Amino acid sequence: MNLHLPELSPAFSRLLEALRDREVAVIGHARPDGDCIGSQVALARALESKGIRAVCVNPDPVPRRLRFLTGEMRFLKADDILPVADRHAAVFVDCADHGRAGERLRQAFPRPVGNIDHHLSSVGFAEHNLVDGTAAATCEILAGAMLDTGIPIDAQSAQALYTGILTDTGQFRFSATSRRSFVLAGELVARGADPAEAGFELYERESLGKLRLLQTFLSSLTFSCGNRVCIGVLHDGVFASTGTTAEDTEGLVDYARCVEGVEVGVLIEERSDGSVKASLRAKDPVHRLDRVAGQFNGGGHACAAGLTIRMPLATFQARLIEALSIQFEGLSAGGKGS
Ligand code: 5GP
Ligand code: MN
Repeated sequence: MNLHLPELSPAFSRLLEALRDREVAVIGHARPDGDCIGSQVALARALESKGIRAVCVNPDPVPRRLRFLTGEMRFLKADDILPVADRHAAVFVDCADHGRAGERLRQAFPRPVGNIDHHLSSVGFAEHNLVDGTAAATCEILAGAMLDTGIPIDAQSAQALYTGILTDTGQFRFSATSRRSFVLAGELVARGADPAEAGFELYERESLGKLRLLQTFLSSLTFSCGNRVCIGVLHDGVFASTGTTAEDTEGLVDYARCVEGVEVGVLIEERSDGSVKASLRAKDPVHRLDRVAGQFNGGGHACAAGLTIRMPLATFQARLIEALSIQFEGLSAGGKGS
């Protein structure tokens, strides 16, 4: 039989072996997305199917739009797990670095047993690091590894894994989308994943507030670097005035990127504590946004990266434009620019 993940599947088996007879905390990142929650649901269920007790833990709650994946499963907050952290073995999923799950979970689990991830900037911070930067989603790694190692995938796990692949590929559009993404999605549909339900839950239930937030974001768009960069900002207080929460920023940055001629789209969110959060999205991986974000203590993928930094919005915006101009110049000098 041809394996979906010839290199990582044996490592997945070794990870499961290392977790035998342990209680496991399956840990996801701050502001969890579909790939994060999908990975947690599927991995926790895989462990349970092997008789290993597992609980999911996140620094932030499961967003409403992803609750269709979790069903009866309990997701703990950092506060709930801290008192019993020492009796749990930790597996981090979809976390490019140890700190993506928040400082408190990083400290509570200083030496994780596992790290399953697909970020280019991923560093091996665990005993068992299952990292594949070519995978479109952590759920793609997990789906492949579970199929390769014969772990049963029930309908709930199939839907969770399918949703992670669907969301991290931008509905099968982004450059990391491969034949393997489709093959695995097909295998998941064969095991009960329901594309129509996932599509409805994710994309057909927006609140009016979210549309107002989008309206605010669209009115803020400005262009720089010869119109190759499009930046939109959300000022502090916008969530209260539109009746939204930080969860509702999901997907906004794609509008900045989708403009004809724009190569990099940016969303900058101003926080009341004097910091900013930025989301960077490129059309082409040549822009290596993981490196651009890395200059501001962030990271991520070549086409999708993020960061949080303590800096006034205007200062940050100017520095980011400077960093992007240098990145564009580097590309032209290397003969790869447009
Ligand atoms: P988003 O813009 O959706 O928050 O994040 C885009 C990508 O960048 C995600 O894959 C996420 O993991 C990564 N990312 C976002 N914020 C940070 C950060 O502060 N540090 C690192 N290392 N990666 C981040
Ligand atoms: Mn992911």
